[in-house]
Amino acid sequence: MDQHNPFARPSTLPFQLPPYAAIRDEHYRPAFLEGMAEQLAEVETICSDPAEPSVANTLLALERSGQLLDRVAAVFFNRSSSDSSPFTIALEEELAPLLAAHSDAIRLRPELFARIAALHARADELGLDPETRYLLERYFTQFTLAGAGLSDADKALLRDFNTRLSVATTRFEKNLLADTNDLALVVDDASELDGLSAGQLSAAAQAATDRGMPGRFVITLVLFTGHPYLALLTNRGVRERLLAASRARGIRGGEHDNRALVLSITRLRAERARLLGFATHAAAVTADETARTPAAVGDLLHRLAVPAARNARAEQAELQALVDADVAAGILAEGFDIAAWDWAFYSERMRRARYDVDTAALRPWFELESVLRDGVFYAAQRLYGVTFTERASLAAWHPDARVFEVCEEDGSPVGLYILDVYTRDSKRGGAWMNALVSQSDLLGTPVIVCNNLNVPQPAAGEATLLSLDEVTTLFHEFGHALHGLFARVTYPKFAGTNVYRDFVEFPSQVNEMWRFDPEVLANYAHHRETGEPLPPEVVAGIHASATFNEGFATSEYLAAALLDQAWHGIEADAGTEITDVAAFEAACLTAAGLDNPAVPTRYASTYFAHTFSGRYDAGYYSYIWSEVQDADTGAWFAEHGGLTRENGERFRERLLARGGGIDPLEAYRDFRGRDAIIQPLLDRRGLN
Ligand SMILES: [Zn+2]
Repeated sequence: MDQHNPFARPSTLPFQLPPYAAIRDEHYRPAFLEGMAEQLAEVETICSDPAEPSVANTLLALERSGQLLDRVAAVFFNRSSSDSSPFTIALEEELAPLLAAHSDAIRLRPELFARIAALHARADELGLDPETRYLLERYFTQFTLAGAGLSDADKALLRDFNTRLSVATTRFEKNLLADTNDLALVVDDASELDGLSAGQLSAAAQAATDRGMPGRFVITLVLFTGHPYLALLTNRGVRERLLAASRARGIRGGEHDNRALVLSITRLRAERARLLGFATHAAAVTADETARTPAAVGDLLHRLAVPAARNARAEQAELQALVDADVAAGILAEGFDIAAWDWAFYSERMRRARYDVDTAALRPWFELESVLRDGVFYAAQRLYGVTFTERASLAAWHPDARVFEVCEEDGSPVGLYILDVYTRDSKRGGAWMNALVSQSDLLGTPVIVCNNLNVPQPAAGEATLLSLDEVTTLFHEFGHALHGLFARVTYPKFAGTNVYRDFVEFPSQVNEMWRFDPEVLANYAHHRETGEPLPPEVVAGIHASATFNEGFATSEYLAAALLDQAWHGIEADAGTEITDVAAFEAACLTAAGLDNPAVPTRYASTYFAHTFSGRYDAGYYSYIWSEVQDADTGAWFAEHGGLTRENGERFRERLLARGGGIDPLEAYRDFRGRDAIIQPLLDRRGLN
């Protein structure tokens, strides 16, 4: 690697901000290759050290290894998500197998594991501080779960399972993409799309033109079973066709059928789990989560499923009454039973009638700059004392990405926060947080965190007006950012959001609560033109409708989470007995009492990307799992006076600052004074 390569050494810009002005495409590849080689050499030095394994010559040496690789990876993967190009896409594809092999070369290296295991065996005699003790525990667990303790023959088997799984999950993803495109709904006449806005109609016309069908209309599918347009389309037949198209993905026979892949992926995972000493894949996954066992996950999901299904049935009866009333009034020629494709349409009608909340009309109160400065930043200042100053002189990866310096109450620096809010073709969908530089005392690194959103860019000169959902998303992602910014850990492994998957959404969900805090809301929600605050009756309507339709929403989520657990609760020997995907799904949903045909699962197996090609295998439960702590924390703030510096300080010091350097349930107990209880979640979702 050329010594002028900007990745060659830590940046000298404030907070080690990557020198974006100097970074060019040709710098990435050599930095990755040298970064991997450098880390392998560092690991080689550890393994060949003739001295007895010690914390310093093994654990700390490992924590110090790979700094060049970390530097280039943080910058590259942020860019490939946020501002991709044919170059980043090609390089990402080239790097994926190299990075996987690199990680295997470290984790499956017998001499390295022998040193970690030797330390672990006498962990209690080493006199370690709690964070270092936890570091040793985490290394031992993660190496073990990766197969480091296996014989050479079993390691070969493991590598074979991993390769076959990566091929199968990649094919699953490609099939899903192909079927999602092929099954897009084609409509001949605009009148059939009554209910869509002019903008939505012209997008459908454009999509048809793009596919060589000018004059017609194409509605592209979303990953969810339920398409957002189901709430809008007045034509019942079109709604039925749209839902059927969504549910047909992966089950049509032919080359894009995913059923055989679902079976083979679950079997391979079960066999790999057995090789690693676990009864099931779910047991192997949850062993490295706060849940610890599939039984604990099952207890929570089943407990919630009963009241959720009951509430959904009550909601269904109310929607049915709307249809029946339309028939009685002569608005509908004939009646019908509420079906899955009718649910969203009638529930949105009921929401407007009952709560007078038209979420689409709220945008003028949610102007981006006010929401950001007078809402998101304001709440953080009231809770944690921190202030935010935009640094226009510091450049990030794209002109839209804005850099803010974060300071403590006394003016001392915290780090940098970068916000890239607008959507563009080169940005992947969704919203997320990542770290460009991770705080660590061992390496003396500061902290830089980023948030990416996908808010449509307004016309030139116009203000950016957010939807209520986008306001929620900004508060949520900022919660992840605070988790990263406030980290005060020794080891890079534990910085900020480097926590368990079933814990990581907890701080971000907690931060969502401040968007509706009366003091925060009054500070940021002013009408763009009139300056008027959000009318109290609208606020009341938003609060009153909080549990509306939650029976449906909770049921469809739980159904998917239970399916994910069921597929990964199969033991290796039993895998071959399961041959019918639809029958397996049906049996699982019936057993949970979630088999109401009007409430389909959020994803069916053949298009459940989270579990078959994403990183949520046996982990889709995580969202509601961390919501237990989130709701319990909301209750704590409410009991203790809400938005105060004292409350914020306690949450920051006892929870956010500790990152992954402590058992998170222990940190939670320290903050809350006890374990989380489920009641606040039941209250919030109306599940009592
Ligand atoms: Zn999140």
